[in-house]
Amino acid sequence: MSATTKSESGPPHVALFPCAGMGHLIPFLRLATMLDSRGCTVTFITVHPTVSAAESDHLTNFFTIHQNIKRLEFQLIPYEKSQFTNEDPFFIQIETIGNSVHLLRPLLSSLSPTLSAIIADFPITTSITQLASDLSVPTYIVITTSARFFSLMSHLPHLVNGIGENNYIEIPGLGQMPLSSIPPPMLNPNHFFAANISSSISSLFKVRGVLINTFTSFEPEAIEELNMATHVARVLPVGPLESFETGDATNLPWLDQQEPESVLFVSFGSRTALSKDQIRELGNGLVRSGCKFLWVLKGSKVDKDDKEEVEDILGETFLGRIKNNGIVIKGWVNQDKILAHKSIGGFISHCGWNSVMEAARLGVPILAWPQHGDQRVNAEVVEKAGLGVWVREWGWGGAKMVDENEIAEKINELMLGKDLRSRVQEVKEKARQARERNGTSELLLQDLIEALKINE
Ligand code: UDP
Ligand code: UDP
Ligand code: UDP
Repeated sequence: MSATTKSESGPPHVALFPCAGMGHLIPFLRLATMLDSRGCTVTFITVHPTVSAAESDHLTNFFTIHQNIKRLEFQLIPYEKSQFTNEDPFFIQIETIGNSVHLLRPLLSSLSPTLSAIIADFPITTSITQLASDLSVPTYIVITTSARFFSLMSHLPHLVNGIGENNYIEIPGLGQMPLSSIPPPMLNPNHFFAANISSSISSLFKVRGVLINTFTSFEPEAIEELNMATHVARVLPVGPLESFETGDATNLPWLDQQEPESVLFVSFGSRTALSKDQIRELGNGLVRSGCKFLWVLKGSKVDKDDKEEVEDILGETFLGRIKNNGIVIKGWVNQDKILAHKSIGGFISHCGWNSVMEAARLGVPILAWPQHGDQRVNAEVVEKAGLGVWVREWGWGGAKMVDENEIAEKINELMLGKDLRSRVQEVKEKARQARERNGTSELLLQDLIEALKINE
Protein backbone atom coordinates (compact mmCIF):
# COMPACT_ATOMS: atom_id res chain seq x y z
CA MET A 1 0.00 0.00 0.00
CA SER A 2 1.47 3.40 -0.90
CA ALA A 3 2.14 6.07 1.70
CA THR A 4 -0.67 8.24 0.35
CA THR A 5 -3.44 5.67 0.71
CA LYS A 6 -4.18 5.24 4.36
CA SER A 7 -6.92 2.90 5.41
CA GLU A 8 -8.51 2.11 8.73
CA SER A 9 -8.32 -1.61 9.33
CA GLY A 10 -9.06 -3.94 12.23
CA PRO A 11 -7.26 -4.01 15.55
CA PRO A 12 -3.49 -3.62 15.20
CA HIS A 13 -1.46 -6.80 15.49
CA VAL A 14 1.87 -6.28 17.22
CA ALA A 15 4.72 -8.71 17.88
CA LEU A 16 6.63 -8.01 21.10
CA PHE A 17 10.22 -9.21 21.36
CA PRO A 18 12.19 -8.82 24.63
CA CYS A 19 15.80 -9.92 25.01
CA ALA A 20 17.48 -11.44 28.06
CA GLY A 21 16.71 -11.30 31.78
CA MET A 22 13.75 -10.53 34.04
CA GLY A 23 14.56 -6.81 33.89
CA HIS A 24 13.61 -6.98 30.20
CA LEU A 25 10.92 -9.65 30.32
CA ILE A 26 8.81 -7.95 33.00
CA PRO A 27 8.40 -4.58 31.21
CA PHE A 28 7.57 -6.41 27.95
CA LEU A 29 4.93 -8.53 29.70
CA ARG A 30 3.50 -5.32 31.17
CA LEU A 31 3.40 -3.69 27.77
CA ALA A 32 1.77 -6.81 26.32
CA THR A 33 -1.12 -6.70 28.80
CA MET A 34 -1.48 -2.93 28.37
CA LEU A 35 -1.72 -3.23 24.58
CA ASP A 36 -4.08 -6.21 24.87
CA SER A 37 -6.42 -4.37 27.23
CA ARG A 38 -6.46 -1.42 24.81
CA GLY A 39 -7.68 -3.54 21.92
CA CYS A 40 -4.50 -4.74 20.18
CA THR A 41 -3.83 -8.30 19.06
CA VAL A 42 -0.54 -9.27 20.69
CA THR A 43 1.96 -11.97 19.70
CA PHE A 44 4.75 -12.39 22.25
CA ILE A 45 8.05 -13.90 21.07
CA THR A 46 9.76 -16.07 23.69
CA VAL A 47 13.28 -17.36 23.18
CA HIS A 48 14.49 -20.84 24.10
CA PRO A 49 16.42 -21.64 26.13
CA THR A 50 16.12 -18.76 28.62
CA VAL A 51 19.05 -17.85 30.86
CA SER A 52 17.22 -17.95 34.17
CA ALA A 53 14.60 -20.24 35.66
CA ALA A 54 12.68 -17.11 36.66
CA GLU A 55 12.16 -16.28 32.98
CA SER A 56 10.83 -19.70 31.97
CA ASP A 57 8.63 -19.97 35.11
CA HIS A 58 7.13 -16.53 34.56
CA LEU A 59 6.41 -17.24 30.91
CA THR A 60 4.56 -20.45 31.74
CA ASN A 61 2.39 -18.70 34.35
CA PHE A 62 1.82 -15.67 32.20
CA PHE A 63 0.42 -17.52 29.18
CA THR A 64 -1.81 -19.66 31.39
CA ILE A 65 -3.42 -16.54 32.84
CA HIS A 66 -3.33 -14.19 29.83
CA GLN A 67 -4.74 -16.45 27.15
CA ASN A 68 -5.52 -13.60 24.76
CA ILE A 69 -1.83 -13.07 24.20
CA LYS A 70 -0.35 -15.48 21.68
CA ARG A 71 3.02 -17.05 22.37
CA LEU A 72 5.51 -17.51 19.55
CA GLU A 73 8.29 -19.84 20.66
CA PHE A 74 11.66 -19.23 19.06
CA GLN A 75 14.62 -21.61 19.33
CA LEU A 76 18.01 -19.88 19.47
CA ILE A 77 21.08 -21.09 17.61
CA PRO A 78 24.05 -22.08 19.85
CA TYR A 79 26.37 -19.29 21.03
CA GLU A 80 29.31 -18.57 18.76
CA LYS A 81 32.26 -16.80 20.33
CA SER A 82 32.82 -13.42 18.67
CA GLN A 83 35.65 -10.89 18.72
CA PHE A 84 34.11 -9.14 21.75
CA THR A 85 34.76 -9.60 25.45
CA ASN A 86 31.55 -11.15 26.68
CA GLU A 87 31.38 -13.30 29.75
CA ASP A 88 28.07 -12.30 31.29
CA PRO A 89 25.43 -14.98 30.58
CA PHE A 90 22.76 -12.33 29.99
CA PHE A 91 24.94 -10.46 27.48
CA ILE A 92 25.84 -13.77 25.79
CA GLN A 93 22.11 -14.35 25.42
CA ILE A 94 21.65 -10.91 23.84
CA GLU A 95 24.45 -11.68 21.38
CA THR A 96 22.89 -15.06 20.59
CA ILE A 97 19.44 -13.57 20.05
CA GLY A 98 20.95 -11.00 17.65
CA ASN A 99 22.63 -13.83 15.72
CA SER A 100 19.39 -15.85 15.57
CA VAL A 101 16.90 -13.14 14.56
CA HIS A 102 17.05 -13.84 10.81
CA LEU A 103 15.50 -17.26 11.52
CA LEU A 104 12.33 -15.54 12.70
CA ARG A 105 11.47 -14.44 9.19
CA PRO A 106 9.22 -17.37 8.15
CA LEU A 107 7.55 -17.41 11.59
CA LEU A 108 6.63 -13.73 11.40
CA SER A 109 5.65 -13.64 7.76
CA SER A 110 3.15 -16.47 8.27
CA LEU A 111 1.34 -14.73 11.15
CA SER A 112 -2.31 -13.91 10.67
CA PRO A 113 -3.50 -11.19 10.65
CA THR A 114 -0.37 -9.63 9.18
CA LEU A 115 1.71 -7.62 11.59
CA SER A 116 1.15 -3.89 12.03
CA ALA A 117 4.46 -3.50 13.88
CA ILE A 118 7.29 -5.25 15.68
CA ILE A 119 8.03 -3.81 19.12
CA ALA A 120 11.49 -5.03 20.12
CA ASP A 121 14.10 -4.58 22.81
CA PHE A 122 16.83 -1.98 22.29
CA PRO A 123 19.83 -4.37 22.35
CA ILE A 124 18.49 -6.20 19.27
CA THR A 125 17.76 -3.06 17.25
CA THR A 126 20.27 -3.82 14.49
CA SER A 127 19.10 -7.33 13.68
CA ILE A 128 15.40 -6.63 14.12
CA THR A 129 15.36 -3.53 11.92
CA GLN A 130 17.05 -5.56 9.18
CA LEU A 131 14.42 -8.28 9.45
CA ALA A 132 11.53 -5.82 9.70
CA SER A 133 12.66 -4.02 6.59
CA ASP A 134 12.80 -7.34 4.69
CA LEU A 135 9.23 -7.99 5.88
CA SER A 136 8.10 -4.37 5.29
CA VAL A 137 6.84 -4.12 8.88
CA PRO A 138 7.42 -0.93 10.95
CA THR A 139 9.58 -1.29 14.07
CA TYR A 140 9.33 0.35 17.47
CA ILE A 141 12.04 -0.06 20.09
CA VAL A 142 11.57 -0.35 23.86
CA ILE A 143 14.04 1.17 26.31
CA THR A 144 13.96 -0.61 29.66
CA THR A 145 16.41 1.80 31.30
CA SER A 146 16.09 5.50 32.19
CA ALA A 147 15.77 8.24 29.57
CA ARG A 148 18.99 9.62 31.09
CA PHE A 149 20.93 6.40 30.47
CA PHE A 150 19.39 6.13 27.00
CA SER A 151 20.56 9.65 26.31
CA LEU A 152 24.07 8.70 27.44
CA MET A 153 23.96 5.60 25.20
CA SER A 154 22.83 7.72 22.28
CA HIS A 155 26.04 9.76 22.55
CA LEU A 156 28.31 6.73 22.99
CA PRO A 157 29.72 6.69 19.47
CA HIS A 158 31.18 10.19 20.20
CA LEU A 159 32.02 9.67 23.86
CA VAL A 160 35.05 7.47 23.72
CA ASN A 161 37.08 10.12 21.87
CA GLY A 162 35.71 13.00 23.91
CA ILE A 163 37.08 11.97 27.28
CA GLY A 164 39.99 14.14 28.33
CA GLU A 165 41.51 14.90 31.69
CA ASN A 166 38.21 15.91 33.29
CA ASN A 167 36.19 13.82 35.67
CA TYR A 168 33.07 14.78 33.79
CA ILE A 169 31.73 14.49 30.31
CA GLU A 170 29.36 16.99 28.80
CA ILE A 171 26.11 15.45 27.55
CA PRO A 172 24.15 17.86 25.34
CA GLY A 173 21.08 19.05 27.23
CA LEU A 174 21.98 17.11 30.35
CA GLY A 175 25.02 19.01 31.51
CA GLN A 176 27.93 17.28 33.14
CA MET A 177 27.85 13.60 33.86
CA PRO A 178 30.54 12.26 36.20
CA LEU A 179 32.78 9.68 34.56
CA SER A 180 32.29 7.63 37.71
CA SER A 181 28.65 7.09 36.68
CA ILE A 182 29.53 5.54 33.33
CA PRO A 183 29.88 1.75 33.53
CA PRO A 184 33.51 0.87 32.62
CA PRO A 185 32.53 -1.73 29.97
CA MET A 186 30.75 1.06 28.09
CA LEU A 187 34.05 2.82 27.47
CA ASN A 188 35.80 -0.34 26.28
CA PRO A 189 35.14 -0.74 22.54
CA ASN A 190 36.20 -4.39 22.73
CA HIS A 191 33.45 -5.16 25.23
CA PHE A 192 30.17 -6.51 23.85
CA PHE A 193 28.24 -4.01 25.99
CA ALA A 194 29.84 -1.01 24.22
CA ALA A 195 29.82 -2.58 20.76
CA ASN A 196 26.17 -3.59 21.04
CA ILE A 197 25.04 -0.17 22.25
CA SER A 198 26.91 1.60 19.42
CA SER A 199 25.41 -0.73 16.88
CA SER A 200 21.87 -0.33 18.24
CA ILE A 201 22.19 3.44 18.31
CA SER A 202 23.39 3.59 14.73
CA SER A 203 20.38 1.53 13.58
CA LEU A 204 17.84 3.68 15.41
CA PHE A 205 17.19 5.96 12.44
CA LYS A 206 15.25 3.04 10.90
CA VAL A 207 12.63 2.84 13.64
CA ARG A 208 9.29 4.62 13.94
CA GLY A 209 9.53 5.38 17.63
CA VAL A 210 11.20 4.56 20.92
CA LEU A 211 9.00 3.62 23.89
CA ILE A 212 10.57 4.36 27.27
CA ASN A 213 9.37 3.13 30.64
CA THR A 214 9.52 6.55 32.24
CA PHE A 215 7.28 9.61 32.49
CA THR A 216 7.82 13.20 31.48
CA SER A 217 7.64 14.83 34.90
CA PHE A 218 10.14 12.30 36.31
CA GLU A 219 12.89 12.96 33.76
CA PRO A 220 11.95 16.26 32.07
CA GLU A 221 15.45 17.30 30.93
CA ALA A 222 16.44 13.95 29.47
CA ILE A 223 13.14 13.60 27.62
CA GLU A 224 13.37 17.11 26.23
CA GLU A 225 16.95 16.45 25.12
CA LEU A 226 15.87 13.25 23.38
CA ASN A 227 12.91 14.99 21.74
CA MET A 228 15.21 17.60 20.27
CA ALA A 229 17.93 15.18 19.21
CA THR A 230 18.06 14.43 15.53
CA HIS A 231 20.05 11.20 15.87
CA VAL A 232 17.33 9.22 17.66
CA ALA A 233 13.81 8.39 16.56
CA ARG A 234 10.80 9.97 18.29
CA VAL A 235 10.71 9.05 21.98
CA LEU A 236 7.48 8.02 23.69
CA PRO A 237 7.67 8.05 27.50
CA VAL A 238 4.80 5.67 28.28
CA GLY A 239 5.65 4.73 31.87
CA PRO A 240 5.38 3.79 34.56
CA LEU A 241 4.21 0.54 32.97
CA GLU A 242 1.28 -1.03 34.83
CA SER A 243 1.53 -4.28 36.74
CA PHE A 244 -0.46 -7.32 35.64
CA GLU A 245 -2.04 -10.38 37.21
CA THR A 246 0.73 -12.90 37.88
CA GLY A 247 -1.33 -15.55 39.62
CA ASP A 248 1.28 -15.46 42.35
CA ALA A 249 -0.08 -15.92 45.84
CA THR A 250 2.70 -14.13 47.74
CA ASN A 251 1.49 -14.30 51.28
CA LEU A 252 3.58 -12.61 53.93
CA PRO A 253 1.76 -12.82 57.28
CA TRP A 254 4.80 -11.29 59.03
CA LEU A 255 4.52 -8.17 56.84
CA ASP A 256 0.79 -7.91 57.53
CA GLN A 257 1.51 -7.66 61.25
CA GLN A 258 3.93 -4.73 61.02
CA GLU A 259 3.14 -1.04 61.56
CA PRO A 260 2.42 1.12 58.47
CA GLU A 261 5.57 2.24 56.61
CA SER A 262 7.83 0.64 59.21
CA VAL A 263 9.56 -2.06 57.12
CA LEU A 264 12.57 -1.61 54.86
CA PHE A 265 12.56 -3.75 51.71
CA VAL A 266 16.05 -4.79 50.56
CA SER A 267 16.65 -6.18 47.08
CA PHE A 268 19.30 -5.89 44.39
CA GLY A 269 17.16 -7.14 41.53
CA SER A 270 17.08 -10.34 39.59
CA ARG A 271 20.76 -10.79 38.71
CA THR A 272 23.01 -8.93 41.12
CA ALA A 273 24.66 -10.83 43.95
CA LEU A 274 26.74 -8.92 46.49
CA SER A 275 30.03 -10.44 47.66
CA LYS A 276 29.82 -12.66 50.73
CA ASP A 277 31.69 -10.05 52.79
CA GLN A 278 29.37 -7.27 51.69
CA ILE A 279 26.36 -9.44 52.47
CA ARG A 280 27.71 -9.87 56.01
CA GLU A 281 28.18 -6.10 56.46
CA LEU A 282 24.72 -5.43 55.08
CA GLY A 283 23.20 -7.99 57.45
CA ASN A 284 24.97 -6.45 60.43
CA GLY A 285 23.95 -2.97 59.26
CA LEU A 286 20.31 -4.02 59.05
CA VAL A 287 20.34 -5.42 62.57
CA ARG A 288 22.29 -2.42 63.92
CA SER A 289 19.78 0.04 62.41
CA GLY A 290 17.04 -1.41 64.62
CA CYS A 291 14.62 -1.18 61.67
CA LYS A 292 12.29 -3.94 60.61
CA PHE A 293 13.34 -5.36 57.26
CA LEU A 294 12.40 -7.79 54.50
CA TRP A 295 15.56 -8.83 52.67
CA VAL A 296 15.65 -10.75 49.39
CA LEU A 297 19.03 -12.42 49.30
CA LYS A 298 20.78 -13.55 46.12
CA GLY A 299 23.89 -15.73 46.17
CA SER A 300 24.74 -15.74 42.45
CA LYS A 301 23.98 -13.92 39.21
CA VAL A 302 21.91 -16.69 37.56
CA ASP A 303 19.22 -18.25 39.74
CA LYS A 304 19.90 -21.77 38.43
CA ASP A 305 23.38 -21.59 40.07
CA ASP A 306 22.01 -20.25 43.35
CA LYS A 307 22.05 -23.42 45.40
CA GLU A 308 22.88 -22.16 48.92
CA GLU A 309 20.21 -21.72 51.57
CA VAL A 310 19.81 -18.56 53.66
CA GLU A 311 21.46 -20.35 56.63
CA ASP A 312 24.49 -21.32 54.49
CA ILE A 313 25.12 -17.69 53.55
CA LEU A 314 24.20 -15.85 56.74
CA GLY A 315 24.87 -18.46 59.43
CA GLU A 316 22.63 -19.52 62.32
CA THR A 317 24.21 -17.01 64.74
CA PHE A 318 23.28 -14.07 62.57
CA LEU A 319 19.78 -15.39 61.94
CA GLY A 320 19.37 -15.72 65.72
CA ARG A 321 20.20 -12.02 66.14
CA ILE A 322 17.40 -10.94 63.77
CA LYS A 323 14.65 -12.33 66.04
CA ASN A 324 11.30 -10.83 65.04
CA ASN A 325 12.91 -7.76 63.46
CA GLY A 326 13.19 -9.04 59.96
CA ILE A 327 12.88 -11.83 57.46
CA VAL A 328 15.29 -13.01 54.82
CA ILE A 329 13.97 -14.71 51.69
CA LYS A 330 15.93 -16.51 49.05
CA GLY A 331 14.15 -17.01 45.75
CA TRP A 332 11.69 -15.03 43.72
CA VAL A 333 9.22 -12.73 45.48
CA ASN A 334 6.51 -10.57 43.95
CA GLN A 335 8.33 -7.27 44.40
CA ASP A 336 5.55 -5.16 42.99
CA LYS A 337 3.11 -6.59 45.53
CA ILE A 338 5.59 -6.12 48.38
CA LEU A 339 6.30 -2.49 47.48
CA ALA A 340 2.55 -1.89 47.39
CA HIS A 341 2.13 -3.27 50.94
CA LYS A 342 1.16 -0.67 53.56
CA SER A 343 3.89 -1.83 55.96
CA ILE A 344 6.72 -1.04 53.52
CA GLY A 345 8.30 2.36 54.20
CA GLY A 346 11.64 2.23 52.38
CA PHE A 347 13.62 0.35 49.77
CA ILE A 348 17.36 -0.35 49.53
CA SER A 349 17.62 -0.76 45.78
CA HIS A 350 20.39 -1.31 43.23
CA CYS A 351 18.34 1.02 41.02
CA GLY A 352 17.59 -1.39 38.23
CA TRP A 353 15.20 0.75 36.24
CA ASN A 354 12.12 -1.43 36.74
CA SER A 355 12.61 -1.23 40.49
CA VAL A 356 12.89 2.56 40.25
CA MET A 357 9.65 2.83 38.25
CA GLU A 358 7.87 0.51 40.69
CA ALA A 359 9.02 2.61 43.65
CA ALA A 360 7.82 5.77 41.87
CA ARG A 361 4.43 4.26 41.03
CA LEU A 362 3.96 2.90 44.55
CA GLY A 363 5.53 5.83 46.42
CA VAL A 364 8.37 4.08 48.27
CA PRO A 365 11.50 6.11 49.21
CA ILE A 366 14.76 4.60 47.92
CA LEU A 367 18.20 4.31 49.49
CA ALA A 368 20.10 3.88 46.22
CA TRP A 369 22.99 1.45 46.21
CA PRO A 370 23.82 1.05 42.51
CA GLN A 371 26.20 -1.80 41.62
CA HIS A 372 26.67 -2.19 37.85
CA GLY A 373 25.71 -1.01 34.42
CA ASP A 374 23.08 1.73 34.13
CA GLN A 375 22.46 1.82 37.88
CA ARG A 376 24.59 4.82 38.89
CA VAL A 377 23.01 6.97 36.17
CA ASN A 378 19.60 5.72 37.34
CA ALA A 379 20.54 6.65 40.92
CA GLU A 380 21.27 10.21 39.74
CA VAL A 381 17.72 10.31 38.40
CA VAL A 382 16.26 8.92 41.64
CA GLU A 383 18.01 11.60 43.67
CA LYS A 384 17.13 14.45 41.31
CA ALA A 385 13.48 13.44 41.05
CA GLY A 386 13.10 13.38 44.84
CA LEU A 387 12.48 9.63 45.04
CA GLY A 388 15.47 8.81 47.19
CA VAL A 389 18.96 9.36 48.49
CA TRP A 390 22.28 8.05 47.21
CA VAL A 391 25.69 7.81 48.86
CA ARG A 392 27.97 8.24 45.83
CA GLU A 393 31.05 7.21 47.81
CA TRP A 394 29.80 3.63 48.12
CA GLY A 395 31.08 3.17 44.56
CA TRP A 396 30.47 0.41 42.04
CA GLY A 397 29.59 -3.07 43.29
CA GLY A 398 32.69 -4.73 44.74
CA ALA A 399 34.84 -1.58 44.54
CA LYS A 400 34.96 -1.08 48.30
CA MET A 401 33.51 -2.62 51.42
CA VAL A 402 30.69 -0.48 52.79
CA ASP A 403 30.74 -0.92 56.51
CA GLU A 404 27.81 -1.84 58.77
CA ASN A 405 27.86 1.47 60.67
CA GLU A 406 27.50 3.53 57.50
CA ILE A 407 24.73 1.26 56.29
CA ALA A 408 22.83 1.48 59.59
CA GLU A 409 23.17 5.27 59.63
CA LYS A 410 21.80 5.70 56.10
CA ILE A 411 18.94 3.28 56.79
CA ASN A 412 17.87 5.39 59.74
CA GLU A 413 18.06 8.59 57.71
CA LEU A 414 15.87 6.99 55.06
CA MET A 415 13.29 5.49 57.39
CA LEU A 416 12.99 8.47 59.73
CA GLY A 417 13.29 11.36 57.21
CA LYS A 418 9.98 13.22 56.83
CA ASP A 419 10.97 15.56 53.96
CA LEU A 420 11.90 12.79 51.59
CA ARG A 421 8.68 10.91 52.40
CA SER A 422 6.54 13.88 51.37
CA ARG A 423 8.53 14.44 48.15
CA VAL A 424 8.06 10.77 47.30
CA GLN A 425 4.31 11.18 47.70
CA GLU A 426 4.46 13.95 45.08
CA VAL A 427 6.38 11.65 42.74
CA LYS A 428 3.72 8.97 43.24
CA GLU A 429 0.96 11.46 42.45
CA LYS A 430 2.73 12.58 39.26
CA ALA A 431 3.21 8.96 38.24
CA ARG A 432 -0.51 8.40 38.71
CA GLN A 433 -1.34 11.49 36.66
CA ALA A 434 0.91 10.35 33.79
CA ARG A 435 -1.13 7.16 33.54
CA GLU A 436 -4.57 8.81 33.86
CA ARG A 437 -6.93 8.94 30.89
CA ASN A 438 -5.50 12.24 29.67
CA GLY A 439 -2.07 11.80 31.23
CA THR A 440 1.11 12.31 29.21
CA SER A 441 2.04 8.61 29.10
CA GLU A 442 -1.48 7.33 28.41
CA LEU A 443 -2.04 9.79 25.55
CA LEU A 444 1.21 8.71 23.87
CA LEU A 445 0.20 5.06 24.16
CA GLN A 446 -3.22 5.81 22.65
CA ASP A 447 -1.57 7.77 19.80
CA LEU A 448 0.70 4.84 19.12
CA ILE A 449 -2.26 2.45 18.92
CA GLU A 450 -4.13 4.83 16.60
CA ALA A 451 -1.05 5.09 14.36
CA LEU A 452 -0.81 1.29 14.23
CA LYS A 453 -4.43 1.07 13.06
CA ILE A 454 -3.58 3.04 9.96
CA ASN A 455 -1.71 0.98 7.41
CA GLU A 456 0.59 3.16 5.42
N1 UDP B 1 11.75 -8.78 40.78
C1 UDP B 1 10.79 -9.44 41.50
N2 UDP B 1 11.16 -10.31 42.45
C2 UDP B 1 12.45 -10.60 42.72
C3 UDP B 1 13.46 -9.91 42.00
C4 UDP B 1 13.07 -9.00 41.03
O1 UDP B 1 9.58 -9.24 41.28
O2 UDP B 1 12.70 -11.41 43.60
C5 UDP B 1 11.35 -7.88 39.69
C6 UDP B 1 11.38 -6.42 40.03
O3 UDP B 1 10.14 -6.02 40.59
C7 UDP B 1 11.64 -5.79 38.67
C8 UDP B 1 12.49 -6.82 37.96
O4 UDP B 1 12.25 -8.05 38.61
O5 UDP B 1 10.43 -5.64 37.96
C9 UDP B 1 13.97 -6.53 38.04
O6 UDP B 1 14.28 -5.49 37.19
P1 UDP B 1 15.25 -4.30 37.61
O7 UDP B 1 15.34 -3.41 36.41
O8 UDP B 1 14.78 -3.67 38.86
O9 UDP B 1 16.64 -4.98 37.91
P2 UDP B 1 17.50 -6.15 37.21
O10 UDP B 1 16.99 -7.41 37.77
O11 UDP B 1 17.32 -6.02 35.73
O12 UDP B 1 18.90 -5.84 37.65
N1 UDP C 1 26.00 -7.12 36.04
C1 UDP C 1 25.29 -7.70 37.04
N2 UDP C 1 24.13 -7.12 37.40
C2 UDP C 1 23.68 -6.02 36.80
C3 UDP C 1 24.41 -5.43 35.79
C4 UDP C 1 25.58 -6.01 35.43
O1 UDP C 1 25.64 -8.73 37.59
O2 UDP C 1 22.59 -5.56 37.16
C5 UDP C 1 27.23 -7.77 35.60
C6 UDP C 1 27.80 -7.17 34.35
O3 UDP C 1 27.18 -7.73 33.24
C7 UDP C 1 29.25 -7.54 34.42
C8 UDP C 1 29.50 -7.69 35.90
O4 UDP C 1 28.25 -7.61 36.54
O5 UDP C 1 29.54 -8.76 33.77
C9 UDP C 1 30.41 -6.65 36.43
O6 UDP C 1 29.98 -5.43 35.96
P1 UDP C 1 31.00 -4.26 35.74
O7 UDP C 1 30.19 -3.06 35.43
O8 UDP C 1 31.92 -4.18 36.91
O9 UDP C 1 31.80 -4.66 34.38
P2 UDP C 1 32.90 -5.73 33.95
O10 UDP C 1 33.34 -6.54 35.15
O11 UDP C 1 32.22 -6.56 32.88
O12 UDP C 1 34.03 -4.93 33.36
N1 UDP D 1 22.25 -2.67 26.85
C1 UDP D 1 22.43 -2.85 25.51
N2 UDP D 1 23.18 -3.89 25.10
C2 UDP D 1 23.76 -4.75 25.96
C3 UDP D 1 23.55 -4.58 27.33
C4 UDP D 1 22.79 -3.52 27.75
O1 UDP D 1 21.92 -2.09 24.71
O2 UDP D 1 24.45 -5.66 25.52
C5 UDP D 1 21.46 -1.51 27.30
C6 UDP D 1 20.02 -1.83 27.63
O3 UDP D 1 19.23 -0.73 27.27
C7 UDP D 1 20.03 -1.98 29.11
C8 UDP D 1 21.08 -0.95 29.53
O4 UDP D 1 22.04 -1.00 28.48
O5 UDP D 1 18.76 -1.67 29.66
C9 UDP D 1 21.76 -1.25 30.85
O6 UDP D 1 22.28 -2.56 30.81
P1 UDP D 1 22.55 -3.37 32.12
O7 UDP D 1 23.14 -4.68 31.74
O8 UDP D 1 23.27 -2.51 33.06
O9 UDP D 1 21.11 -3.56 32.76
P2 UDP D 1 19.77 -4.25 32.27
O10 UDP D 1 18.84 -3.12 31.98
O11 UDP D 1 20.06 -5.07 31.05
O12 UDP D 1 19.34 -5.07 33.45
